[in-house]
Amino acid sequence: MYELTVRTSFAAAHYLKDHDGPCARMHGHTWQVEVTLKGGKLDHRGMLLDFQKVKNLIKTIVEDLDHQCLNELEPFNSGGEKSPTAENLARYIYERLEPEINNQEHSSHVALVRVWESPDASASFMRLEGTV
Ligand SMILES: [Zn+2]
Repeated sequence: MYELTVRTSFAAAHYLKDHDGPCARMHGHTWQVEVTLKGGKLDHRGMLLDFQKVKNLIKTIVEDLDHQCLNELEPFNSGGEKSPTAENLARYIYERLEPEINNQEHSSHVALVRVWESPDASASFMRLEGTV
């Protein structure tokens, strides 16, 4: 099994509804996003998937988030159950990236998306068998 990880970042504001603390007020982060792919087979170049290809796919997603107030974007602006936490951001990026990666002609899949909202705090989303 091979694993590759690509990292990028974007800047965006958010505030957390129902949060009992300063995070309830609007503030910004430089979010770090790590995407990890896994697969068992390399292509004829010896690559699981070209880093550049992965970066381009992530770039498209991150561009929609960059310099935005996340609370104003779908799917974070409806209800309140989708507060733009690091957890929900990780899932959002995962679910947008997954079909793009699965469309490529290779054997890898998205294993994990990790979102860092500060240098010492991150949340990840991954699919485990028998769960969402
Ligand atoms: Zn925050």
